[in-house]
Amino acid sequence: MKLIFELSKEGRKGYRLPELDVEEVNPQQVIPEDYLREDLDLPEVSELDVVRHFTKLSQKNYAVDTTMVPLGSCTMKYNPRINEEVASIEGFTSLHPLTPEDFCQGALEVAYRLKEFLKELGGFAEVCLQPAAGAQGELLGLLLIRAYHVDRGNTKKTKVLIPDSAHGTNPASAAICGFEVVTVKSDENGELDLKDFERKMSDDVAGLMITNPNTLGIFERNIKQIAQLLHETDALLYMDGANFNALVGVAKPGEWGVDVMHFNLHKTFSTPHGGGGPGSGPVGVSERLEPYLPVPRIDKRNGKYTLVWDKPKSVGKLLAFWGHFSVWLRALAYILSYGKEIDKVAKYAVLNARYLRELLRGVFRDPYAHVPCMHEFVLSATNLLKHGVNAYDVAKALLDRGFYAPTVYFPLVVKEALMIEPTETETPSTLEAFAEALKDIVKVAKENPNELKESPRKTPVRRIKEAQANRKPVLKFKRG
Ligand SMILES: *Cc1c(COP(=O)(O)O)cnc(C)c1O
Repeated sequence: MKLIFELSKEGRKGYRLPELDVEEVNPQQVIPEDYLREDLDLPEVSELDVVRHFTKLSQKNYAVDTTMVPLGSCTMKYNPRINEEVASIEGFTSLHPLTPEDFCQGALEVAYRLKEFLKELGGFAEVCLQPAAGAQGELLGLLLIRAYHVDRGNTKKTKVLIPDSAHGTNPASAAICGFEVVTVKSDENGELDLKDFERKMSDDVAGLMITNPNTLGIFERNIKQIAQLLHETDALLYMDGANFNALVGVAKPGEWGVDVMHFNLHKTFSTPHGGGGPGSGPVGVSERLEPYLPVPRIDKRNGKYTLVWDKPKSVGKLLAFWGHFSVWLRALAYILSYGKEIDKVAKYAVLNARYLRELLRGVFRDPYAHVPCMHEFVLSATNLLKHGVNAYDVAKALLDRGFYAPTVYFPLVVKEALMIEPTETETPSTLEAFAEALKDIVKVAKENPNELKESPRKTPVRRIKEAQANRKPVLKFKRG
């Protein structure tokens, strides 16, 4: 069969696309019988009904536009709309990554200014914007630590110490980088156990990875002493900066003796990242690690922004191109719109978490009740186990009460963990309503636990078997 495409009979007379030779097929033979139709009954629905249908569909999901998202360790959820507009400016979105420097001075200025702000906020000697996410920032940080030791002929430094409350990416990054991971215990205050740390320190330790505030939402008060102990044996201090929103504008990790830290721009400086991306994990370093940073560096020379490649000790390049530019744009817009008041982000984040934790005193078990929290806190639902109710049931029951669930079963050091992070953007009345919902769940757990076992009841899909859904996902629509 010969197919001939004619664009338009009137407009472009005589213009024809080339003739194509296409093999003739019988639809009856290639389309499964199920899908063959005699006629096509298109539904007739009014515009208003269509609008209502799709609006309702859009509201069946839980999103920060309609409800509070208390997920811990995920930090900012609300992203100011202005940052989306800035990230959509056409001059940036249509820029080709291979544009010569002279023609993309504006984009290079964005990168340069963002880098300078991050240096200032973190207290670092230099910042590299390349890493595509926090986890890649960790990998870079460890590559830098390795390059530092190798450069000094110190090839015996093969171990990296990591506290047991750490995020799973920390040991994973260390292992990918070829280090042996040694776990350090947390103490009764939820901080790194100094005694266990000192026991595990030795000449073959390359460094320690610590999160501050840590994943329990607790500030590591001994951070300066830890840095000092490490530096005594020429080991380095890596800080996981995923919780930097609790510190921004208030404290500078570089001043504590941190040698390298990743920022999660998508957790501290805008960019919606629910659903897995995109992110950006810039890395800040102290003087001693500066020579090893990836190329190209971004510099300003004689009033012109330029990429610098000539760095003989550099670990090389992390990405095919330069980094996640639209995430950088949002971060810069966010920093500039707060200006000198950016400390309010940290202060309100901590205030909100502490207020919510007070509202929930006595409702769940609080293993670190005697320690003040920073931007998040971790409760334990073990007090409900005697009624047959666990953290998972609490999370599902929240959905029926109009709230998204907190992070559950992380960090691993707390049994039946409920990790709650309200962020700086929620109002006291929202926090009070959230606390009321949790109190109601605890009341139902005592009076009628079976009801919670059946939750969620009001969502389009009820309780799913999570292990089965992960192992045998059904990704195709099945009829009937
Ligand atoms: C999110 C997170 C990471 C990993 O960052 P990504 O940007 O998701 O790769 C590492 N550590 C902690 C504590 C985190 O919360």
